[in-house]
Amino acid sequence: MDIRFDCTQCGRCCHDLRLPLSIDEAIVWAGRGHDVQLLCDALPSLSGDPPEEIVARFRHDRSFPAMSGGLPIRVAIILVARHAGACPHLLPDMRCGNYADRPRVCRIYPAEIAPHVRLDIQNKLCPPEAWAGDRPLLLRDGFVADAGLGSLIAAHRAAAQSDAPAKARAAMLLGARTAALWNEGYAVRAPAPDDLVAALVEARASMEEVDTGAHWSIVSNRKSTLAMLRDADADGRFCRSDAGYIGFFADEG
Ligand code: SF4
Ligand code: SF4
Repeated sequence: MDIRFDCTQCGRCCHDLRLPLSIDEAIVWAGRGHDVQLLCDALPSLSGDPPEEIVARFRHDRSFPAMSGGLPIRVAIILVARHAGACPHLLPDMRCGNYADRPRVCRIYPAEIAPHVRLDIQNKLCPPEAWAGDRPLLLRDGFVADAGLGSLIAAHRAAAQSDAPAKARAAMLLGARTAALWNEGYAVRAPAPDDLVAALVEARASMEEVDTGAHWSIVSNRKSTLAMLRDADADGRFCRSDAGYIGFFADEG
């Protein structure tokens, strides 16, 4: 099946941002004084070996080893440009005022980054005319049709993988030690832009090995999850959905 697309510059995807950024991009974004958050999640990792299944492998490759209580885990951190309302770079006529330097995800959208996620136009913000039959080919049978776009997606995935050790070091510098359970939500850390830049620059320059014994708490808003974490000897803590936790499920209790 073909999916055709051309941006109409409606500006919808440039509002209420949570744009995933590489470390290089986050340093530039936060260096301009804009907010960048850390979204942290964790998954038990008993064997430590890279899994073969595609979803688990994708997550494994952008995570780093750590501990929660007596449970070995892998923590993944997504750096996101966060902005309520219009992006600070959006011009009144809905053009990007940062076009030449816009983050990779701004160039990739509405295509997907994760290899296992199929593009569903119903989930995208683009208006119907953006998908009209006379638009350039975006996807054919689920595969990206444009080599330039394919290279951007590959570069974004490669950065997420190579950035993982520096994210582990930056988290320690920022005192971020809390993660949500994978697929349940994210623990959110929102450092001041200057502090984030300093931590990322230092972490990126460091050659220190990732501390595989670093302790992380796992937060959840579900009692059933906390019971499971307790049984697994993990350090689980209750957390309501608020500024410090984005839960995919309703709070329990
Ligand atoms: S950087 Fe440009 S393209 Fe990206 S969200 Fe902001 S205005 Fe939109
Ligand atoms: S929502 Fe879609 S059509 Fe509108 S500006 Fe973003 S990419 Fe372009």
